[in-house]
Amino acid sequence: MKRFFLIILGLASVLMNAQTQIIAHRGYFRAETPAPQNSIEALKNAQQLMVYGSEVDIRLTADGVPVAVHDEHHGDMEVSETSYAGLLKLKLSNGENLPTLESYVQQATQNDAVKLIVELKPAKSPELETMLVQKASDIIQKYNQELHTEFISFSLHICKEIKRLRPDAVVLYLNGDLSPTQLKAAGLNGLDYHYKILTETQPDWIREAGELGLITNSWTVNDPQIYQQLKNKGINFVTTDVPNILKNK
Ligand code: MG
Repeated sequence: MKRFFLIILGLASVLMNAQTQIIAHRGYFRAETPAPQNSIEALKNAQQLMVYGSEVDIRLTADGVPVAVHDEHHGDMEVSETSYAGLLKLKLSNGENLPTLESYVQQATQNDAVKLIVELKPAKSPELETMLVQKASDIIQKYNQELHTEFISFSLHICKEIKRLRPDAVVLYLNGDLSPTQLKAAGLNGLDYHYKILTETQPDWIREAGELGLITNSWTVNDPQIYQQLKNKGINFVTTDVPNILKNK
């Protein structure tokens, strides 16, 4: 009897592990030919690697253009205080123009198998955040990419705005301070938290989220041992700088 349970436990663990999928953090930028983070080239690399998704950070320029950039600054220019034309004065290290979300979505249409995971960065006011959500949603709709795109944000306002505009969209919260029960009550689809929260501070949250039908993801998981710990807990996704390595684990 004991052996039977061990077999069942083993099967359950294999099934849970099989569910864990990989998202390339800011595109697959540590490829054989390294690409700048959040560049179109990094997205193309992730598309070639055939992972579940490729994540990208999006901010709004002073003239309201959603662009792919992680930091508040592009060179010494503050993105939210500079027009897109102004930001174009500084190219990425591979010679690309600072990508717009629109160019990113256009590239995403080239590969139906790799989703675009759009991180909408918090802005200086709720009004600007609402504008960012509206513009991003319009661009995604323009290219019929609703089913090919998922959203993440540290801003609860942004998460709720996306759900208000697009109730069917998948929206995960990044900030780590809400429990699975609170996320469920807020109407979001799940959590995408720093791995230390899910392995150390709140070791039951992956299980609790699963029981509530919520999706679980974690960042930025580059260590195969941490990846294994999260897989053993039954996590759905991890977001990583080394998708090529974790993909084969
Ligand atoms: Mg990000």
